[in-house]
Amino acid sequence: MRPTGRLHLGNYVGALENWVKLQETANSPTATEIFENYHLIADYHVLTTNPNTSEIYKNTMDMVIEWLGAGIRPEASPIFRQSQVKEHAELFLLLSMLITKERLERNPTVKEQARDLNLEETLVYGHLGYPVLQAADILLYKGEVVPVGEDQLPHVEITREIARKFNSTYGPVFPEPEGRVTQFARLPGLDGRAQMSKSLGNSILLSDSPEEIKAKMRKAVTDPQKIRRGDPGRPDICLVFTYHRKFNPAEEGEIRTGCESGQLGCVDCKMRCATRIADFLAPIREKRAYYEAHLDEVQDVLIDGEKRARAEAQKTMAEVRSAMKLGEV
Ligand code: AMP
Repeated sequence: MRPTGRLHLGNYVGALENWVKLQETANSPTATEIFENYHLIADYHVLTTNPNTSEIYKNTMDMVIEWLGAGIRPEASPIFRQSQVKEHAELFLLLSMLITKERLERNPTVKEQARDLNLEETLVYGHLGYPVLQAADILLYKGEVVPVGEDQLPHVEITREIARKFNSTYGPVFPEPEGRVTQFARLPGLDGRAQMSKSLGNSILLSDSPEEIKAKMRKAVTDPQKIRRGDPGRPDICLVFTYHRKFNPAEEGEIRTGCESGQLGCVDCKMRCATRIADFLAPIREKRAYYEAHLDEVQDVLIDGEKRARAEAQKTMAEVRSAMKLGEV
């Protein structure tokens, strides 16, 4: 994840929640696959859309606090900054020789970002190369599974292509990783846009108080045909219902019936949803408050994670250089 500060519900249900699940497979007697997680703070990637680094440290700490609050256990899953493991830059450079400019220009996620952020005329070279750096991030740790939201799947596809190209050119070094999305791989925003996103200002943050969540939900877009209580609604096209499905599954049937019959008004429906979201986030908020008061522990998490990631990355780069016959004497 890019260190953009506080996280929103989309980041949580699309990625973070899944990370915690995968992490806990190591302790689960019923898990059919066991995972060893690596959690990268993409502080180089953040520069693709924002060259200003004055807030980068604060945003990094804020994000790590969210991860810890959500249940990432750093002793099991190293947390580290991309910029502190130099091998990312080296592998990025080598991999950038294995993909064409045309292929990168066809990437739908970069096109979407360029449009949403008005960057069509000013896209930087590094932004186009975003998925190549991401390939380096994944392949340095020989990642096999990449748990991401839907918008990231095209990038994982590029990683697979690059891994194949590397292996066929220089010999088998890398696995071909697969993307793994959750049921809520693209959580819609409060304004009804397809994706909740901080830059679009349509998100509920994990750190929002119950009052803030209520205030935001009050403004959420609902079925335009349901104007007042009594009008029948269409839950399947209503984003508030999508949120109920995730955060209030116990009442999903009742909400659907109430909405469709018209008995349940949108304001009541939204407030019930806001309460459930606030309940859902309460333990995360509590845990993050602990880490906010113990920033030295968060710093130690980074120092330790960076040491462990570096050791892994150095091993892979030694294999890469040897496969490519670089530096042979
Ligand atoms: P970003 O901060 O955009 O780099 O996103 C970090 C992670 O959250 C990525 O795995 C994204 O795919 C995921 N993500 C971001 N927004 C959403 C959303 N609205 N729904 C689901 N996943 C999301």
